[in-house]
Amino acid sequence: MVVVLEPGTTEVQIENIIRVLHEHGFDIHRSTGVAQTVLGAIGVRPDFDHRQIELLPGVAEVVRVTEPYKLASRSFKRDGTVINVGGVKIGGEEIVMMAGPCAVESEAQIFTIAEHVANAGVKVLRGGAFKPRTSPYAFQGLGEDGLKLLRQAADQFGLKVITEVMDRSQIDMVERYADIFQIGARNMQNFTFLRDLGKATKPVLLKRGLSATIEEWLMSAEYILSGGNHQVMLCERGIRTFETATRNTMDIGAIPVVKKKSHLPIIADPSHGIGIRDKVIPMARAAVAAGADGILVEVHNDPDHAKSDGAQSLYPDQFTQMMHEARIIAEAIGRTLV
Ligand code: PEP
Ligand code: MN
Repeated sequence: MVVVLEPGTTEVQIENIIRVLHEHGFDIHRSTGVAQTVLGAIGVRPDFDHRQIELLPGVAEVVRVTEPYKLASRSFKRDGTVINVGGVKIGGEEIVMMAGPCAVESEAQIFTIAEHVANAGVKVLRGGAFKPRTSPYAFQGLGEDGLKLLRQAADQFGLKVITEVMDRSQIDMVERYADIFQIGARNMQNFTFLRDLGKATKPVLLKRGLSATIEEWLMSAEYILSGGNHQVMLCERGIRTFETATRNTMDIGAIPVVKKKSHLPIIADPSHGIGIRDKVIPMARAAVAAGADGILVEVHNDPDHAKSDGAQSLYPDQFTQMMHEARIIAEAIGRTLV
C-alpha cells in the first residue's frame, strides 16, 4: 500500500500516520520529496480496510498495490489452469464450445438441439432445469425431470453437461446429473452458497454478477477456491450499464484483463452478453479474438416459441455459421476449435 501525504503535512501528523500503520502491522518505507512525502506500507494484509488510513489528517491518497485475492491470482499460479471435464480440457489451447437452449423444455426439444450442436463440434451441452427468472410467474424450469432429459440427450450424442444450480439445496441433485455447475450472475455474491460449492467435487462456472467489478468477481472465485474446489472457470455474460440499446453490455475487455490477473479459464456468454439474436455472432467472434477459452451460447430449434430467452437464442443454422467463423478466428490467433 502506498500512502501519499498532502503537501505541508506536519512532522507530528506524519509520525501519527506511521504509528497507526505500525499498529496494523505494516513496515514503513518513507520517501521525502521536495513538496510531498510518500509512505510505502509493506505487509500483506488482505483484510485491511485502507479507509482507516485515508481518514487520518495529512493523508492525500492511499493506493493499494497487492490484490485482495490470492488463490485466484496469476502471481500465486503462473500457468493457466486447465480443467479436465472427463477428457474435455477447458483452459488449454483448444477453445471449448458449450451450447444449448436457455432452458430444457421437452424431450424432443433437447434431443433435437443436442444432436445439432454435437454435429457442429460442440463438447458441452447447456440447458437450465432450474431457471432464475425475474418474474415468479415466468417458466421456472422442469427441475429434476429437466436434469434427466439433459443427461440423456448429452449421453446420446457424446456431450458433457453444464447446468445451473441455484441454491445449496440443489447441489447434491444437480451433481448427480451434471458435469459442470453453472452459477448464475444473480448468485455471484451469495457467499454462503459459494462456500458450499467449495466443498463440491464438480467444476464450477462462475458467471459475473450484473454489476460486479472484475475484482469482486475474482473475490467470489476465491471463496470457492479457498473452500477446496480448485476447478473454477469464470464467465463474462455482460454487465448492466447506462446503455439501453442492448440487454446488457458485453465487457469484452474483461477477457484479457482477467487473463492477466488470474490463471482461471475464462468463458464468454455472448447470448446474455448482448441479449439480441442478430448480434450474438459478432460478440462470439470478438470473444474468441479477445482470448476466451470457451463460448457458452444459447441455441434453440424453435426460438420463436422458446419458453425463455428466445430472442437471444440462435437458430441452428446460425449456430453452424458461428462455429465456422469462430474456427477461422481461433486459427488466426494460434488456437484450435474442433
Ligand atoms: C442462463 O445462462 O440462462 C442464465 C440465466 O444466465 P445468467 O445467470 O448469466 O443470467
Ligand atoms: Mn438464458
